[in-house]
Amino acid sequence: MTKHNRMIPYGHQDISEEDIAAVRSVLLSDYLTQGGSVAEFEKSIADYCGAPFAVAVNSATSALHIACLALGLKSGDLVWTSPITFLASANCALYCGSNIDFVDVDAKNGNLCVSALEDKLRRASVLGRLPKIVIPVHLCGQSCDMRAINRLSKIYGFSIIEDASHAIGGKFFGKKIGGCEYSDITVFSFHPVKIITTGEGGMAVTRSEALAKKMQLLRSHGVTRNPLEMMKESDGPWYYEQIELGFNYRLTDIQAALGTSQARRIDKFVSLRNLLAGRYTTKLTGLPVEPLQQMAYNYSSYHLYVVRLSGQNCFQRRRIVVDRLRQLGIGANVHYIPIHLQPYFQRFGFRRGDFPESEAYYEKAFSLPIYPTLTDEQQDYVIASLKSALEE
Ligand SMILES: *Cc1c(COP(=O)(O)O)cnc(C)c1O
Repeated sequence: MTKHNRMIPYGHQDISEEDIAAVRSVLLSDYLTQGGSVAEFEKSIADYCGAPFAVAVNSATSALHIACLALGLKSGDLVWTSPITFLASANCALYCGSNIDFVDVDAKNGNLCVSALEDKLRRASVLGRLPKIVIPVHLCGQSCDMRAINRLSKIYGFSIIEDASHAIGGKFFGKKIGGCEYSDITVFSFHPVKIITTGEGGMAVTRSEALAKKMQLLRSHGVTRNPLEMMKESDGPWYYEQIELGFNYRLTDIQAALGTSQARRIDKFVSLRNLLAGRYTTKLTGLPVEPLQQMAYNYSSYHLYVVRLSGQNCFQRRRIVVDRLRQLGIGANVHYIPIHLQPYFQRFGFRRGDFPESEAYYEKAFSLPIYPTLTDEQQDYVIASLKSALEE
């Protein structure tokens, strides 16, 4: 087995000549930001997902923040999400001065566990501490059970933001993630390791015009140029008015042009990822690793291909396997460290043992490389390396 010269990363963007041409044409135009490219990108994502409104921002983290604000999240309110996610899914609550709590994951696939959610809601309802927003995370690109979560939202009165940072191009019961049939807002990330990229970037899609308007305002300083929204009379054609405390979360036209060009290839990227995932699942059969279970109603975008070690002493063995893969030039990684175990989150009173399935998942999970330009030869090298690492 020969070592590859370059590290095979766990994820990588795919940039085409068309992408480069799209960026180049914006660079040569009059507007690098606040021109027409952002609206075009928003329309392409809204049309793709089948939701009427899309608001582009400079990251999914920003999208989560303004989504929470648009849903009226305030100091003292409560947000629940999964511990097995990137930090941003929880930090959006803290930005709004509200409190964060977690719902344990389902051992089958690492997604937010519906029965754990139901139990926790029942107890919270008795205590009068129900969440204002629940943020299900579609781990690796596989949708959570949105029908069940939506049904619970009607009983207990919470809003839903889908953190679909991994999941553009995925489907739930045959419908594209991002259609927002079962949620208020869905958020996507366009970081280079995600399904499509704008360098940095994010998008919030919604069926609600009011939420879309609110998020548009919040992404650009809370400033309006619409006289109907102003308190004062206009001083003249230059006049604008701040009606909310907003931010500069704008995406540039350079990024948006890249996004529109990339968005044309979402289906192609996702089907290539599904082919690679299928090859992994077949070729790893018989090894002491277990892929995440795919639910029959889901079509995953396979942002990540996660396996879990089986057997004893997984935490120690996983370290050895990941170290060995890295020595062999394979950027195996771990997604994710449970957020409640982060030192920063200890100040909120979280402790080891709070979310046992999430902790068990973290002990044995690791991610293998998956991205559209990963060749069969490279993938076979990853599989052979994993076999040898597991035998050590
Ligand atoms: C990547 C990611 C984010 C943050 O995305 P950015 O665009 O980098 O801000 C949020 N949630 C999840 C689950 C992610 O994977």
